[in-house]
Amino acid sequence: MCRNVPLLFLDLDDTLLDRAGAFRRWAGEFLDEIGAPQDDLEWLVALDADGLTSRWDVADAIRDRYRLRVSSLDLVEALHQGVLDYLQLDRLVAGALRIATDAGWVPVVVTNGSTEQQEAMIKQTGLDRYVIDWVISERAGVSKPNPRIFALAAQRVRMRLHGAWIVGDCPETDIGGAAAMGLPSVWLHRGRRWVEPRFRPTYTVDGLLAALAAVMDAPPMSRPRGGGRFQPYPAR
Ligand SMILES: [Mg+2]
Repeated sequence: MCRNVPLLFLDLDDTLLDRAGAFRRWAGEFLDEIGAPQDDLEWLVALDADGLTSRWDVADAIRDRYRLRVSSLDLVEALHQGVLDYLQLDRLVAGALRIATDAGWVPVVVTNGSTEQQEAMIKQTGLDRYVIDWVISERAGVSKPNPRIFALAAQRVRMRLHGAWIVGDCPETDIGGAAAMGLPSVWLHRGRRWVEPRFRPTYTVDGLLAALAAVMDAPPMSRPRGGGRFQPYPAR
């Protein structure tokens, strides 16, 4: 039996948690540790590409640039652990999730990435206490923007996709996923301009607090009324 309450799909990296900030802090400390100039920070941040570059490729590039005598495996471990060490759940984000939950929303994390890494991020920050469930692409066997990962997430919490919202910072995977299913979405712009011509987010905001406020304030008519599950959501 499906419950008739709104489902809220939330991206993890740079939506619920400030992964970019954590990487930046780790990278700054790492450069100090190996005696490299802080000017290299932007190079490292670009190399990381918000975690999209394979950790092995990042480790190899760092080893080559600084001629480090450390194994790739150790460096990959340091990259994983470094980000985890600096990740924190913003108390305001935790509070906003609680308010959304009290208002009847069901927050579920849908994230692309490795099961071990993403689950560590969710549990070590205490985020697991503020969301109902999470689905990670590696374990699910399907990644965003494929609608199947969202369908799977809905199934796990025994809810319908109808009326769900998607919140995330990635145009392609988060907002593209919403567009593929005809669901409304909120894009966290992180200082970027929207350039994707094929679809648009329902709302564009500067952070998760504004995103949750937008979702909770949205008039019911901005929620899709059935049909068009795989049509792009109209631009506003
Ligand atoms: Mg993200």
